[in-house]
Parts: sequence; C-alpha cells; structure tokens
Amino acid sequence: RANRLFHPADSVIDCGGVKIGSKEKIAVMAGPCSIENAEQALRIAQGVKAGGAALFRGGAYKPRTSPYAFQGLETEGILDMVKAREATGLPIVSELMSEDRIPEFEEYVDVVQIGARNMQNFQLLKAVGKMHKPVLLKRGLCNTIEEWIMSAEYIMAGGNEQVIFCERGIRTFEKYTRNTLDLSAVPIIHEKTHLPIVVDPSHATGKANLVEPMMIAAVAAGADGLEVEVHYDPQHAWSDGAQCLTPDAFAQAMAKCRQVAWAI
Ligand code: PEP
Ligand code: MN
Repeated sequence: RANRLFHPADSVIDCGGVKIGSKEKIAVMAGPCSIENAEQALRIAQGVKAGGAALFRGGAYKPRTSPYAFQGLETEGILDMVKAREATGLPIVSELMSEDRIPEFEEYVDVVQIGARNMQNFQLLKAVGKMHKPVLLKRGLCNTIEEWIMSAEYIMAGGNEQVIFCERGIRTFEKYTRNTLDLSAVPIIHEKTHLPIVVDPSHATGKANLVEPMMIAAVAAGADGLEVEVHYDPQHAWSDGAQCLTPDAFAQAMAKCRQVAWAI
C-alpha cells in the first residue's frame, strides 16, 4: 500500500489542519524531548511557533534506556500539551508506547509518534493501524529502509494509511555523533513510496551544534518536514538537553533553512 508503483501521486497527510507532504510547505514540528509541566510546555510552544514551527512536539511517555530515568508525565503531560495547543493553535505530536493508551491519544493527540525502539513492535503497529490519526513512524536504530517500509505496511494494512516516515539516524561505528543521519533515506522513501518523510536532526546527531547544519541539509535533500527538539534551558532539560536548541537558536536555524528552501 505504501508502494509508489500502485499509487503514483504523493500522499498529503492532514495533521490537525497542517498538511505534510504537499511539496508546497515544509512542516516543522518542534518542542521539548519531555514535557515537564504546563508552563514549560506553553512557553516552548510559543517559542517554536514564533520561530516558524507548524506543530508542537513533546514526550509524555518516554522510552528511556534506563528504567531509573524519568519516564514521562504520562496523561498529565498530554493534557499540558493540549493546553499549549489551545493557547497557540499548534497541533500536537507525541509518542505512543502501548496499546492501552490508544483511547487517550485518539481523544487528545493530533499525530501519534511511534518511536525508533518500537518500529518493529508489530502488535503496536497493528493497533495503530486501526487508529484514526496520522502516524509519525520513526526509523529503528538498526533497521534498513526496506524493514521500515514494511513497518509502514503493518499500519496501512489495518486501514490507517496516514503514515509519515521520520529518519532519526541509525547506529554505526561513529562515536562523535549519537547516531548517523542517513539523508539518502529522503530521496529513497520518495522513490519507493508515495508517503511523506520528515527528518529529525536532534536524535540523529545528539549535539545541539550539529542540528542547524543537518536541518539545512535535510530541507535541501527534499524532506517534507523536520522534527527538532527545543528547550529554553537545555542544561536543565529533563531529557536530551545536549541536543536541544533554544527557541532563539531554533529561529535562527529556520531562517537559514529558508535560504535553501523557499517552502519552509
Ligand atoms: C523522541 O522523539 O524523543 C524519541 C525518543 O525519539 P527516537 O524514538 O527517535 O529515539
Ligand atoms: Mn528526545
């Protein structure tokens, strides 16, 4: 169902009123890795909106490597995002980790993120295939593009064809970056499928100073959108501070992207 051969036209996915994949406008989703409280969510949502983001991202259910690390505010975090949406008008993107939260996400969230670690959680993919919301499907840490497309098929086979790919870097031997951004995924996904692809330069690099150049590279490569982590106080962010841009740095990076791609 994702195959370009059987569906030559580009699919445009409506994300709470923001269209992704239209080729007329590059959609940028930005926000903190973790939602910390309602004030933090609102302040960052306002900040990224001022910088040109069209969607607000934030984690309320966090897939942390250590079980002792902060696991997310859960429902409270989702409700903090809902308040930020009411104040800013930005649709919200958040990660779903388990099937039992599906009713909550159907009710409150505009775009359901499936994290890299769950890219091959086939049971979860099948469940999301029955949802009525767009799905942002992140590439697994060690998965090929072919496997990633098959995961999109799992979702689409259930009837939900609103899938957006998100390239967030893959594991390689390189240690100076958290992951290695595979930008060739952008033209390959466009060649093989009719679905949009977004690039996440934050998790791909793990380093704030690398985020702006990789944002520029991603839009130059033809990405339909970006997902960027932003926090006004990166040093004290509850997760992923090292890769967070401040709202000012985000706005500057967006301005540079505009020099490369008029559509952003
Ligand atoms: C995230 O978006 O905060 C996240 C956990 O991303 P990934 O699944 O790509 O690691
Ligand atoms: Mn993160």
